Amino acid sequence: MATEGNLQAPTRHPLDWKNPEFYNEDAALGELGRIFDICHGCRRCVSLCGTFPTLFDLVDESKTGEVDGVDKKTTGKW
Ligand code: SF4
Repeated sequence: MATEGNLQAPTRHPLDWKNPEFYNEDAALGELGRIFDICHGCRRCVSLCGTFPTLFDLVDESKTGEVDGVDKKTTGKW
């Protein structure tokens, strides 16, 4: 059962850094886009995460006004 706000130690998931796919830039940018799309809609931790000002600027400057309109390859900001 999923719980929120407990005092248990967090579960640590090891990074698969020895896998060549770990260093695939296109996969990493795709995952960042997926995560930022979720965070742009959620905004629960907007006051805690320094990513938001840049994310909001990029979305505001995009053609669609959404995360999917941000050109991830040319911005160099994420
Ligand atoms: S809580 Fe924060 S990190 Fe999690 S989805 Fe919402 S904005 Fe993103």
